[in-house]
Amino acid sequence: MNLHEYQARDILRQRGIPVPPGEVATTPDQVRAIATRFGDRVVVKAQVHAGGRGKAGGVKLAATPAEAAEHASKILGMTIKGLTVRHVLVTPAADIASESYLGIIVDRAAQRPVVMVSAAGGIDIEEVAARTPERIHRLAVDPRYGLLGHQALGLALTLYRDIAQARAAADIMQRLYAACYAIGASLIEINPLVTTRDGAVTALDAKIVIDDNELERHPEIAALRDSGAEAPSEVAARAAGLTFIKLDGTVGCCVNGAGLAMATMDLVKYYGGQPADFLDIGGRSNPQKVVSALKIITADPSVRAILFNIFGGITRCDDVANGIVQATREFRLTVPLVIRLTGTNEELAVKILTQAGFSALTDMDEAVKQSVAQAAA
Ligand code: GDP
Ligand code: MN
Repeated sequence: MNLHEYQARDILRQRGIPVPPGEVATTPDQVRAIATRFGDRVVVKAQVHAGGRGKAGGVKLAATPAEAAEHASKILGMTIKGLTVRHVLVTPAADIASESYLGIIVDRAAQRPVVMVSAAGGIDIEEVAARTPERIHRLAVDPRYGLLGHQALGLALTLYRDIAQARAAADIMQRLYAACYAIGASLIEINPLVTTRDGAVTALDAKIVIDDNELERHPEIAALRDSGAEAPSEVAARAAGLTFIKLDGTVGCCVNGAGLAMATMDLVKYYGGQPADFLDIGGRSNPQKVVSALKIITADPSVRAILFNIFGGITRCDDVANGIVQATREFRLTVPLVIRLTGTNEELAVKILTQAGFSALTDMDEAVKQSVAQAAA
């Protein structure tokens, strides 16, 4: 689950990390009032679950309350990476001397949290990572001991020569590590971590992604969910009890079981296609899940073909077949459907599908190849 910047800032502030104050608004008039209260230059910032807001025109500096309101009228309602901006954060503008990057991710390869820092922070950090990765310093942390003082200071000294600034940054790192652990974050990022003209070290932006499996343990964090700011397809999938992640490709995948879903996506790529989603209908078997899944997949205009890959166990093939037939009665499918199913009640499923005019395959390779070809046609 993604948090908004203003929510992430609150969490950091509560944990003693220096973050400028800020208030959230939904109209230009509110922005004007907030800017008047802050009194000096402010920054108006789009609150959407997407990075690169600065480059997209979603972060603007304003010298006066009138200018802030004007920026807000442009930012509110704009779309950034497909997400509509409904809230802006108004915050006093910092006088920036330098921009660094500080992030912690749970790294699968290292099987540990990894702290990353770079003196080349700011809006071009992706480029730095791609072109000059040596400018990013990494440290895998042993979770038994946490981020130790000397480790944090070592990293901080790659950012700042000034010892007071390095100490301040090290303190922020340790607090950030503790926050990451305490709230069950899979990613927590401050970019930019700035030094201001008066020498202070401050977090100007914050991004937090919570591991969904942690939400049950942290109801106060789960309550921060803003469904209105999430991709509609992901909201619908959660309501239907499906595990769904939207991707950029054209082959809509509907699979049972996360492992098979991963293998299916791999195979789609292997045969030259691009999956449009990760979708797991697994768990209890019922046709309604299939109907919901098809609704979600077909609502995505970039889907050119749909691939069902079902390995019937607890999920019964006949339930899936009935779901497909039921869905086509409820709405018209405008893209080709390739169905592969095998396992529990396979014969019955084939009968149901054949009667409804569909054909079914049992071979996974063949089904994936066909779906990739259909999507490219
Ligand atoms: P992002 O593009 O979504 O990561 O949004 P950020 O909050 O990181 O802002 C993007 C850029 O705007 C930063 O890298 C800064 O260069 C600039 N910016 C943000 N806040 C301030 C501020 O308070 N003062 C100044 N001068 N620039 C800011
Ligand atoms: Mn940023």
